[in-house]
Amino acid sequence: MSESLKEITPKVEKVAKAQKLVGVKGMNDILPPDSARWEWLEGQVRALMARYAYRNVRLPIVEPTALFVRGLGEVTDIVEKEMYSFEDRLNGEQLTLRPEGTAGLVRSVVEHNLLYEGGKRLYYMGPMFRHERPQRGRYRQFHQIGAEVLGFGGAEVDAELILLANDLWKVLGLKDVRLELNSLGQPAERQAHRAALIAHLEKHSDALDEEAKRRLHSNPLRILDTKNPAMQSVVESAPRLLDFLGEASLAHFNAVKSILDANGMAYSINPRLVRGMDYYNLTVFEFITTSLGSQGTICGGGRYDYLIEQVGGKPAPAVGWALGVERVLELIKEQGEALPDLAPDVYAIIPETAALPVAMQVLQTLRACGVSAQMHAGTGEGMGSMKSQFKKADGSGARFALVFGAEELTQGQVTVKSLRDGEGAQRRETLSTVATWAHTLQSTL
Ligand code: ATP
Ligand code: MG
Repeated sequence: MSESLKEITPKVEKVAKAQKLVGVKGMNDILPPDSARWEWLEGQVRALMARYAYRNVRLPIVEPTALFVRGLGEVTDIVEKEMYSFEDRLNGEQLTLRPEGTAGLVRSVVEHNLLYEGGKRLYYMGPMFRHERPQRGRYRQFHQIGAEVLGFGGAEVDAELILLANDLWKVLGLKDVRLELNSLGQPAERQAHRAALIAHLEKHSDALDEEAKRRLHSNPLRILDTKNPAMQSVVESAPRLLDFLGEASLAHFNAVKSILDANGMAYSINPRLVRGMDYYNLTVFEFITTSLGSQGTICGGGRYDYLIEQVGGKPAPAVGWALGVERVLELIKEQGEALPDLAPDVYAIIPETAALPVAMQVLQTLRACGVSAQMHAGTGEGMGSMKSQFKKADGSGARFALVFGAEELTQGQVTVKSLRDGEGAQRRETLSTVATWAHTLQSTL
């Protein structure tokens, strides 16, 4: 143990003994039955990604701090005030809990030379960390699902990613989601716009908040992303970046739009949409719902053709999006979608501990046949009364109770009692032929 670790250990123990430990503010436990919805959503995502031939990546949650500072931009909300950064006590490395997934993915792609044989379509799911004020739809540990296409520069992949996200809303049954689209052009075009933007903001400097004043010369485009309602009118009257785009940027934008049009994908152009990170260029977009109040952006993305080079790779274009899982689930809940059914097919009632070896063998066979089976578990001093076991069986929501009574077992049988038909119909089945009747217990039939 290092010196510094020894030093803090007694402190940690003292805190632990003194008070009941609770989770960190803004970081949630995801528990049953809610976790069933998470699993369901993740399953839908995996299936859809496979249909679009996107492959999964699993990346570290901790990355070098420099990756985000360099990648996202120093003058951004995330880098200025939202990152969980720390020094590794053991070797002094500067590390950060990832606030988003794109920078780490690009780091990985460069490190493993993944674009060596051409472009890649990838996706990830996992926790992200930002020190924000916790509120509905805004947490300090939250989860994103991201899709990224690297190594292709054409408008068709921008459009493919948008259509993919929209398909996801369809399979998840989301209503009331609209698409906003903009183009941030190329760095040279932004440079020309920047001068006009600074002039406009300077003219209205009395309407700018402290943060905007600070960013006026370091990163004026960020000011357009402000959430301050008092600044909306200054922002709305600001020069539009779209008006500064050259022919090539406009052609790219129009190509994305015409593919979306051909696919019946509705969108609106929002010239003030700039996104929160500096790495974007050309196409940017957000999917927004009005059903979640001010935390209505469920997914955002765009092109980031310069990020790979910035992180030290051979220049290659890229585009992607990330969605907020908590917000999407919140929207599903808002729409009154029922939770997936978690009830097991059967609940095993075991009156005496002596029946356990046989009963558990039968349950193992049932599970191997695809039946979901919950076993009554005792206190350590016995299995509990039949009445309490039946109460537990009802509470589990199981469709059938299997009763492994002594009398049944001496005949090599088990009682199968229906719990949901109201009449409690029951029958006997033979233990030695489980595989032949297992299917009659499954809810999928
Ligand atoms: P916002 O403007 O709401 O702060 P953002 O622009 O910072 O969002 P992105 O960095 O684009 O968000 O992340 C993509 C998505 O991740 C967002 O659209 C949102 O759904 C989700 N998200 C971002 N921050 C949080 C958070 N703190 N808690 C929950 N979800 C979040
Ligand atoms: Mg944010």
